[in-house]
Amino acid sequence: MKQKVTRIGVLSSGGDSPGMNAAIRAVVRTGIYHGLEVFGIMRGFSGMVEDEIVKMESRSVANIIQRGGTILKTARCKEFFEYEGRKKAYENLKKRGIDGLVVIGGDGSFRGAQTFSNEFDIPCIGLPGTIDKDIAGTDFTIGFDTAVNTAVEAIDKIRDTADAHDRLFVIEVMGRDAGYIALHSGIATGAENILIPEKKTDIINIVKSLAEKEKRKKLVNLIVVAEGEEDFGGAQEVANVIKEKLPNQEVRVCILGHIQRGGSPTCFDRLIASRMGFHAVESLIEGRHNVFVGIVNNKMHYIPLNEAVKKKQRISEEWMRIVKILST
Ligand code: ADP
Repeated sequence: MKQKVTRIGVLSSGGDSPGMNAAIRAVVRTGIYHGLEVFGIMRGFSGMVEDEIVKMESRSVANIIQRGGTILKTARCKEFFEYEGRKKAYENLKKRGIDGLVVIGGDGSFRGAQTFSNEFDIPCIGLPGTIDKDIAGTDFTIGFDTAVNTAVEAIDKIRDTADAHDRLFVIEVMGRDAGYIALHSGIATGAENILIPEKKTDIINIVKSLAEKEKRKKLVNLIVVAEGEEDFGGAQEVANVIKEKLPNQEVRVCILGHIQRGGSPTCFDRLIASRMGFHAVESLIEGRHNVFVGIVNNKMHYIPLNEAVKKKQRISEEWMRIVKILST
C-alpha cells in the first residue's frame, strides 16, 4: 500500500566515494522542494542506532557538490547486523517521524537497508556509491569515474619515471572484487598488461611478452594490477615473479592506495549523483520502496535492494585484445 512520506532521512554508509556529497545535496534539496523535512543521519547506520540525526536545510548542503568524502561521515556499524540494534535505530527514526530513508553506499549497505525495511516498514531507496563499480544493475556508480581518473593521472606520472629510466612498473590500483578501475585506467594509460580478479593471470605469457620486448629494447612497460588479483595476490607478488624470471629488467612496484578514494568528484560523478539523488526522493514520493536507483543505457532503473550483489563482471575478450594489440 502506498504510504505518503513526509520526513525522510539520508545517510552514507560503507566505503566513502567521491560524489556522495553531491548525492546528499540532491536528496536534501529535492526533498525540501517537495515540502518534505529532511534529516541527515551521521556515520551511516551508526547514527541511526546512536541517535545522531540532524535536521538539514537547503543551506546545510551549500558548497559541498565539489567536495570528496561525505559531510554526513560514513561508518561500518556492527550493531546494525543485530535485530536489537535495528530496533533501536527504528525507535530513533520514529520519535522524529521519519518515514522514508535514502541510503548511499554499496551492496552491504543495501542489504542492511533491506533487512531494516522488511522488519520495520520504513521504505528505503539505495543510491550506489562505490568507487569499484561492482554493483550489478547499473552502468555507473557514484565515485568510479573520479577514482579511475585519479588512477590515470597517477599512472601517467609513473610513466614519466618509467620512461626516463627504462623501467618496468607494476602498479596496484584499488578493486578488491572487481577489476574495473584496473581495466579502465590500464587501457587509458597504455598499460602493457592488466591483471584483474575476473581473469586468470597468465604469468608465462606476460614474461614471454616482456622478454620479447626486452630483445627489441622496449623496456618501458606498465603492468596495472587490481588489488584483488587472485592468482598471485597483488602487485608486489607479480613483480617478484617477473624479477626472478627476467633478472635484467629493472622492476619497480607502486601501490596507489587511498589517493583513489578521495578528491573532488569529476563532472560525471557530480551529474550522476545529482540525478540519482533527485530520483531517489521522487521515488519515495511515488511510493517506491526497497529498490536502488541505477542508470542503464542512460535511463533510470529501479532494482530491488535484495538483488544488489557484487558484480563479477565478464571482461569481454575485445578489451583484452585491445590491450594486447595497442601495447606492442
Ligand atoms: P558497503 O555498503 O560499502 O558494501 P559494508 O558491506 O561494510 O559496505 O556494509 C556497510 C554497513 O551496512 C555494515 O557495517 C552494516 O552496518 C550494514 N550491513 C551490511 N550487511 C548487513 C546485513 N546483512 N544486515 C544488516 N546490516 C548490514
